[in-house]
Amino acid sequence: MQKEKEIGLRAVRTAMAMAAAVQRETGAGSTLTKSDRSPVTIADFAVQALICNALGLHFPGLPIVGEEDSQAIRKPENREIFVRIVRYLRKYDPALDEKLIFDLIDMGGAEPDGTFWTLDPIDGTKGFLRGEQFAIALALVQEGEIRLGILGCPNLPANSGGTLFWAIQGKGSWRIPAKGGIAEPVRASTKTNPTQMRFVESYESSHSDKETQLAISQRLLISSPPEQMDSQVKYGIVASGLAEIYLRIPNPATPDYREKIWDHAAGSLIVEEAGGKVSDIEGRKLDFSAGKTLLRNRGILATNSAVHKRVLEIVAELAGKK
Ligand code: AMP
Ligand code: MG
Repeated sequence: MQKEKEIGLRAVRTAMAMAAAVQRETGAGSTLTKSDRSPVTIADFAVQALICNALGLHFPGLPIVGEEDSQAIRKPENREIFVRIVRYLRKYDPALDEKLIFDLIDMGGAEPDGTFWTLDPIDGTKGFLRGEQFAIALALVQEGEIRLGILGCPNLPANSGGTLFWAIQGKGSWRIPAKGGIAEPVRASTKTNPTQMRFVESYESSHSDKETQLAISQRLLISSPPEQMDSQVKYGIVASGLAEIYLRIPNPATPDYREKIWDHAAGSLIVEEAGGKVSDIEGRKLDFSAGKTLLRNRGILATNSAVHKRVLEIVAELAGKK
């Protein structure tokens, strides 16, 4: 797994710098809307192309299950956006031609099966557009087990150049400042008294059930209200001991929504390898062998492990089996 880690870290680190530049330099005017009505930006496409390029070069034949495809940017009316994607990518690799860039994006179009990479080029696109938290998430899945997780968090902490987290199954969780420095182990919080715990949830109201989440934090007698932030940065925060609970109860308005594997693969391994615990809200292990979604799971609970059982009990009580 050393080569996978080295190549993955290098690609994600480069992608973090590129995405941060796009976030600084471009506004919300450069987004497209996907068929599920979610936004996608220059950075989503450019990062997917950049990371697929690196993975394809070093691990040819290993499938990549990425979030994006090139369909929208092949349309003539989106030519201007595509030109900007090309311009960003050529800063890193001047030899890339347009046809190759489409192909690199579509390299991420594999179906999950056996051993594969899964990539969320920009997780938390809405946070990205607000100038807030987002993450670049890459994981290696083998027969439903996450073996390697890499999480680039360009705005964590703010104005620092960002943090890169990674974990290899059985080998612990680590972090390093993206601009360089010494890798250090990441450990989840050892707090056991719920009243002192910190609770994180999605910023976007439509992505979870904030009302029930607030009720749960109150039942735990947590003194401060849940803190909202976008993307898998929440997993990075729990893994680092900066929060004890990340809860994602399905929003009652979208009961059929299923979590995407690329939204949880890297982050969940990083929390577990830091000594935390991750399950769905009914206590089941996340099942990454059911395709592109966590078909057999409902919601997400990531904790420092000490409080996991207690939160599951309260969820069962308050959220029931709805
Ligand atoms: P977060 O910032 O933690 O809410 O995570 C962002 C992710 O939420 C996006 O990458 C989407 O894939 C995902 N998402 C979109 N719609 C929903 C929904 N209705 N319920 C749960 N997650 C969603
Ligand atoms: Mg995402």
